[in-house]
Amino acid sequence: MRAPCPCGSKKLYMRCCRPLLAGKVIPDTAQALMRSRYTAFAKGKWQYLSETEAGKAAEGGRDGRVDGVRWLGLEIHEVIQGGINDNSGAVVFTAHYAHVGDGRRFSMHEHSIFEKINGRWYYIDSIASP
Ligand SMILES: [Zn+2]
Repeated sequence: MRAPCPCGSKKLYMRCCRPLLAGKVIPDTAQALMRSRYTAFAKGKWQYLSETEAGKAAEGGRDGRVDGVRWLGLEIHEVIQGGINDNSGAVVFTAHYAHVGDGRRFSMHEHSIFEKINGRWYYIDSIASP
């Protein structure tokens, strides 16, 4: 388990997002939650995705499952607030992925909004950016 973390932190997975996905550590910033959610997509941890959504993101009871996709990397461009003493924040990022079937590559550029509710960060909504 000395693999690098999928979230691109350059840390080992076991020292980065794994304790968060296992529920042993609660993300203390919006960025930490964002990274761990990306890793949850990459690792197929759908339950973690639904557990960390609230508000608009949680409507409709989707489980966030994305099949047939291989996640290639995460680039974080900007973090707006979302620190340990904040109650809201936003992360601007690009996630790169490929379709497993034909190998075609895509990028998803997004501005995700996070809020702290009862001391925990949740993913609330996102704005797609061009
Ligand atoms: Zn990580």
